[in-house]
Amino acid sequence: MNNHQLKCPYCQKELMTWEPSPYTGWGDNMLYCDNNECSYFVRGREKICREYDRNFAYRYCFNPKNGKEVPIIAWCYGELSLKKGRCKVSGKSENML
Ligand SMILES: [Zn+2]
Repeated sequence: MNNHQLKCPYCQKELMTWEPSPYTGWGDNMLYCDNNECSYFVRGREKICREYDRNFAYRYCFNPKNGKEVPIIAWCYGELSLKKGRCKVSGKSENML
């Protein structure tokens, strides 16, 4: 039980380890949620799509060293993109979870 895996507080999926490149200046390994169904990801994506008309979303990310949450921006492409018709209704929130 000492190998406790941290879970995403939004979807309870185990967090993945992400090693930022040295150029980000972050240094530490980060833990992030790669679940495309995660409510954190889905809500952020809808918000950005609606308000900014962009194919971006946030993924839940956590720095185990200092215990801080850091949303990381994820580019949504292909199947993940909301901008295929569904998102064209601007200003109106449809089917919020
Ligand atoms: Zn999650």
